[in-house]
Amino acid sequence: MSAPARILIVEDEAPIRRFLTIALGSAGHETLEADGGRKGLELAATRAPDLVILDLGLPDMDGRAVIAAIREWSRVPVLVLSVRDGEGDKIAALDAGADDYVTKPFATGELLARVRVLLRKQATSAEDAPEIAAGSLKVNLAARTVSRDGRDVKLTRKEFDVLALLARHAGRLVSHKQMLTDVWGPAHATDTHYLRIAIGHLRDKLGDDAADPRLIITEPGVGYRLQIIADRVSGAGG
Ligand code: CA
Repeated sequence: MSAPARILIVEDEAPIRRFLTIALGSAGHETLEADGGRKGLELAATRAPDLVILDLGLPDMDGRAVIAAIREWSRVPVLVLSVRDGEGDKIAALDAGADDYVTKPFATGELLARVRVLLRKQATSAEDAPEIAAGSLKVNLAARTVSRDGRDVKLTRKEFDVLALLARHAGRLVSHKQMLTDVWGPAHATDTHYLRIAIGHLRDKLGDDAADPRLIITEPGVGYRLQIIADRVSGAGG
């Protein structure tokens, strides 16, 4: 379980706010509630939350405008709540500076897992460790080497850059645009076929089944996520 955090919930539907408050409270977190974008921005500025959970469909402001306003002065993680089939909304929210999303209706377990990852990232981002481990996968950013289950894996430069980016955001969603811009440059921000090919090669080399990936997860139309395996997902509980 992550350390207790202060989490701001910006959501106009009272039953969802109540559900989130109970779920987050049971995980030991303190919550602040706002029923609109303006109130949310006020609380974000005055109460310094560790994480913001933001509904995109608010009565008084566009959710993307709320993210953009927060990003003018804060790097606080923002987890977006979006409706099913809202791929365009999700992408716009990520481009505006959101860190991840969950789709309504969501399960408590999924929500708490996303919250845990975002809070952990917040706590460790200052360290800039030269080696990142995600279960049996080890990515050494300094030496540019990769191993899985203790076996060295040879990658091309671009494949390594893609994997390193995912590893630095382990457990979190990384959008197509973010990956393409970071690895291939801004001129290739929409060349998603580059990514499909690189991800295919990576899964091959890392022994991840493309039909049922366990390591590099596809978020259809949006991006990819490096799954954090072994430590808690498949562990023996506790
Ligand atoms: Ca709403």
